[in-house]
Amino acid sequence: GGGTDTLLATEQLTKNFGGLTAVDSVDFSIDEGEIRCLIGPNGAGKSTLLELITGQLSPSEGSIYFDGHELTGLPPHERIDTGISVKFQSPHVYENLTVEQNLQVPLQRTDRDADGVMAETLDRISLAEKATTGASELSHGEKQRLEIGMAVTLDPTLMLLDEPVAGMSVDETADVAELIGSLHDDGMTFLVVEHDMEFVRRISERVTVLNQGSIFRQGPIEEIETDEDVRRIYLGE
Ligand code: ADP
Ligand code: MG
Repeated sequence: GGGTDTLLATEQLTKNFGGLTAVDSVDFSIDEGEIRCLIGPNGAGKSTLLELITGQLSPSEGSIYFDGHELTGLPPHERIDTGISVKFQSPHVYENLTVEQNLQVPLQRTDRDADGVMAETLDRISLAEKATTGASELSHGEKQRLEIGMAVTLDPTLMLLDEPVAGMSVDETADVAELIGSLHDDGMTFLVVEHDMEFVRRISERVTVLNQGSIFRQGPIEEIETDEDVRRIYLGE
């Protein structure tokens, strides 16, 4: 028992693209075991922050710490080895491979029991009946679940999801919320970028609002949703 443990922390994290500061001196942290949602207007810097955490982008200034490691400067594959998995905003499934073959791609880089993990993951993402179906034949929702499944095969401590329910139907969105809930019950920590407030309300206790590269507000969903300044910048009210 006792207090909470910080799993991820950024210090003064900054990313400049030419004259534009996409992420501006951000001090951000996530505790072990939480589901944090990151919201904010288009162009706020949400995806850039995620890509700095995964190492797809290098910071202009600042540092990133995860689970006792300093990540700053490590290449993406070494960050994956410390326990970070990600589903990026743009789709990354292999259209010319089957569902099973897609899951084998990340599984190959682990020493986990491939058959056991494969069966468990297919079951988790509710695609067991489509194991040998080509990824190109999947619906948008199934592709998103497959991509989350690919990240899950790595058994991460921290899962980063960038807009996991964008373009999904209400039912598909509910499936993803349920999947996140079940992984969270098993101890996984989440950082989820999402616009769908119904979904955010469903999965998240604590919300961080990013605006123009800076943390604008942070707190419980009920407070964030009713904050007039948040409504003004984010909801355009
Ligand atoms: P969000 O995910 O919150 O919508 P992004 O992190 O994608 O925002 O973008 C933040 C800002 O940085 C935007 O103004 C965007 O145009 C800019 N930006 C993002 N990636 C690049 C890049 N590779 N080169 C130049 N500008 C970029
Ligand atoms: Mg984005």
